[in-house]
Amino acid sequence: MQIFTTINELQNWRKSLDHTTVVGFVPTMGYLHDGHISLINQAKKSTSTVVVSIFVNPLQFGANEDLSAYPRDFQRDSELCLNAGVDAIFAPTAKEIYSNGYPPKCTINVAELGKNLCGAKRIGHFDGVCTVVAKIFNLVFPHKAFFGRKDIQQLRIIETMTAELNFPIEIIGCDIVRSKEGLALSSRNSYLSPVEKADALIVPKLLDYISNLIINNQFNPENLTNYAIEFLRHLPNVKLDYLEVVDYKNLQPIKNITGKIVIATAVFIGKTRLIDNIILSIN
Ligand code: AMP
Repeated sequence: MQIFTTINELQNWRKSLDHTTVVGFVPTMGYLHDGHISLINQAKKSTSTVVVSIFVNPLQFGANEDLSAYPRDFQRDSELCLNAGVDAIFAPTAKEIYSNGYPPKCTINVAELGKNLCGAKRIGHFDGVCTVVAKIFNLVFPHKAFFGRKDIQQLRIIETMTAELNFPIEIIGCDIVRSKEGLALSSRNSYLSPVEKADALIVPKLLDYISNLIINNQFNPENLTNYAIEFLRHLPNVKLDYLEVVDYKNLQPIKNITGKIVIATAVFIGKTRLIDNIILSIN
């Protein structure tokens, strides 16, 4: 397994691959868990060379967010990548990625799809995500890139960016990997104390609850916030950031429950903000 920290090394290696090589790319912020490994496994199945990037991108963090606290363990990550059969890791510093100066003078602006859900709460977040993903797409030059449905808004935005900016890359969405109790795996789960970890199980339960209301035709979109307040009432350490039922395509709140929809939520467990979602197809 190759480990590159500079753009030059990565590009030289990429240029050395022959034209029959099908390159799969898994972008991550590191502190890898089974969710990331499932993306790598899917990449291994449908491509011949797999590149994983490990980069905690400052451009997608707000001023009061957890950039400096974000968990990092490159040694462990590289062992997990080696065991998963990754061919190359790209782990640059922020200085290397933003070598023309920080903040960058040119960034990608996400319109509609970035304005609600997490985009409404984390202003500029998706501009930062798209800017770094576009930059690394141009360095790795993958045929396919793998993203988790856990970050469903990110996946929809990356699909849209790839289509609208004509990147010749196939974007593959991968299912959410959960703990056996149902909590969506996340590097940020490492912030949770044992008590908070138990509290966090309310997040998938909240989504299941809304999902069952919808499936059983008992859901009223106007009552959405009330459902959540009622559901979380007995957990004082748990605070709702948002809960929305949106159309899968445009991520706008839906009035009529039909077609492919997403129940999406962000919840604070103490100071830790977790996101999760369920995708449903309703006839
Ligand atoms: P991150 O390192 O959190 O930026 O995530 C890197 C990639 O892994 C993104 O495409 C995420 O959506 C995906 N990912 C993170 N957690 C999970 C999970 N529990 N299941 C599936 N994919 C995930």
